[in-house]
Amino acid sequence: MKRILVNGAGGFIGGHMVKRLKAEGHWVRAVDLKHHEYTTLPADEFIIGDLRDQRVVADVVEGIDEIYQFAADMGGAGYIFSGEHDADVMHNSATINLNTLHFGVKAGVRKFFYSSSACMYPEYNQTDPSSPNCSEDSAYPAAPDSEYGWEKLFSERLYLAYMRNYGAAIRIARFHNIFGPDGTWAGGKEKAPAALCRKVAEAESHGEIEIWGDGNQTRSFLFIDECIEGVRRLVDSEFTGPVNIGSEEMVSINQLAEMIMEVAGKKLTIKHISGPLGVRGRNSDNRLIAEKLGWKPSRSLREGLAKTYSWIQGQVACSRPNDLVTA
Ligand code: NAD
Repeated sequence: MKRILVNGAGGFIGGHMVKRLKAEGHWVRAVDLKHHEYTTLPADEFIIGDLRDQRVVADVVEGIDEIYQFAADMGGAGYIFSGEHDADVMHNSATINLNTLHFGVKAGVRKFFYSSSACMYPEYNQTDPSSPNCSEDSAYPAAPDSEYGWEKLFSERLYLAYMRNYGAAIRIARFHNIFGPDGTWAGGKEKAPAALCRKVAEAESHGEIEIWGDGNQTRSFLFIDECIEGVRRLVDSEFTGPVNIGSEEMVSINQLAEMIMEVAGKKLTIKHISGPLGVRGRNSDNRLIAEKLGWKPSRSLREGLAKTYSWIQGQVACSRPNDLVTA
C-alpha cells in the first residue's frame, strides 16, 4: 500500500483515479479547489486548497510516496481556444506544476505522474483531417495551436528536468480527449462529447443541435476507464514517456453527433455555426504505448458514448425540476 496524493481530485479524471487507487487498497490524499460536483470520493483525506499557494503544496506533499498531478486550469475548445483565458491558463497551470515538483522533491516524493495533452502537438501536422500525425516523436519543432498546449509542453520539460537533475521518477502521458460520466457537461468548460450529449438530451425529438464549424474536423475520444487503466499501467512500468493515451478510432464531429443521436434514439438536424475549433484533424498514435506497455485502449467509442449519454441524460433531467413536475 502506498501513500498517494491526487492533485485535481475534485475534477473529472482525478476523481476517477481516486476511486481506482482506493479500490487497489492505497492510502489517498486528495486536493482540489473544490469538492467533486457529481460524486462522493472515498479519499482518506480531501483537502480543499489552492495548489498555486506554496504553503498549501508544502503541506499536502508531506509523507507522500507518489503524486498524480491532474490539476490544471482547463476546459474544452470554448475555454482554451477563445484566447480569453490564455494568461490564467498558463500562469495557473505552470504555477501548480512548479510548486508540485519543487515541494514534492524536497519532501522526498519518489514518483510523479504528469497529465499532459495532445494539444502540445504541432499544428502543422494536424491540418489534414484524414491523416494527422501525432506520434510522440513529432513534437518538435514545437508549434502547438494554443497557449494551453504550450504550457503542457513546458511542464513536460519541467518534469523531465527534475528527473535528470534531482533523480525524481517521472511518468508522462499525453491524453487525447477523455470522456465519460462524472465529467463537466455544462457551464462553458465542457468538451465536445459531453456538450453534444447534453445538446441531444435537451433537444425535442426532430429538433436541431448546433455544432461549431463545418463538423468535418476529426478527433478521437477515449473512455475514462481506459484512460485510468493506461495511467496505472504507465505509472507501474519502467517507461517514463511521454506517451499517448488515446483512442485510434478517429471520427469527424458530425459523425460523433450522429453516433450520439443513434445511442439516444433521436434524429435531429445539425446546424453548423461559427465557434472556436482547434486543429483540423487529430488522432492518437498508439504504436509506442503498445510497444512499451504491451497494451493499448481497445474499446469502441460507441460503447463509451452509451454510458456517457445515459449519465448526462440523467443530469439534464435532474437540472430541470419543473419539467419533471409537469411531465
Ligand atoms: P478537470 O477540469 O475536470 O479537473 C481539473 C481539476 O483541477 C479541477 O477540479 C480544478 O478545480 C482543479 N484545479 C484547478 N486549479 C487548481 C488549483 N489552483 N488548485 C487546486 N486544484 C485546482 O479536468 P480533467 O478533464 O479531469 O483533466 C485532468 C488533467 O488532464 C488536466 O491536467 C488536463 O489538462 C489533462 N487533460 C485532460 C484531457 C481531457 O480530455 N479531459 C485531455 C488532455 C489533457
